[in-house]
Amino acid sequence: MDFYLSKRYCRECAVLLKGRSDQKFCSDQCRNQYNNRNYAQKLAVQRQVNRILVQNQQILAHLLMIEKKRRVEEVELLIRGYNFQFQTHTKQAKNGARYIFCYDFGYLRLSSNLIYIVQGSC
Ligand SMILES: [Zn+2]
Repeated sequence: MDFYLSKRYCRECAVLLKGRSDQKFCSDQCRNQYNNRNYAQKLAVQRQVNRILVQNQQILAHLLMIEKKRRVEEVELLIRGYNFQFQTHTKQAKNGARYIFCYDFGYLRLSSNLIYIVQGSC
């Protein structure tokens, strides 16, 4: 049983490995295919996150087309598809208020349904 468990298989094609104990792939081709697929998956996740961040930024920018700063109800952001789970960074104002940013646009939550949107620094 121990012998069976100690068998190792190529991570890409699952062929039985017969080389060194730290061998993970049967060939350079399998290693490259495995690594390329993992890299492509990571890149896809990064693109998806960036798409959400850019969309958030564009929603905030759209709401600030006329005024530099303004209050809006949270529902206005939600209707436009704002995703509150994604942000690029936060900034703490001198008064201690913590602004949440998507790139150069940010907001401060004033209450459970009221948002204060700003551009640049808070
Ligand atoms: Zn292989």
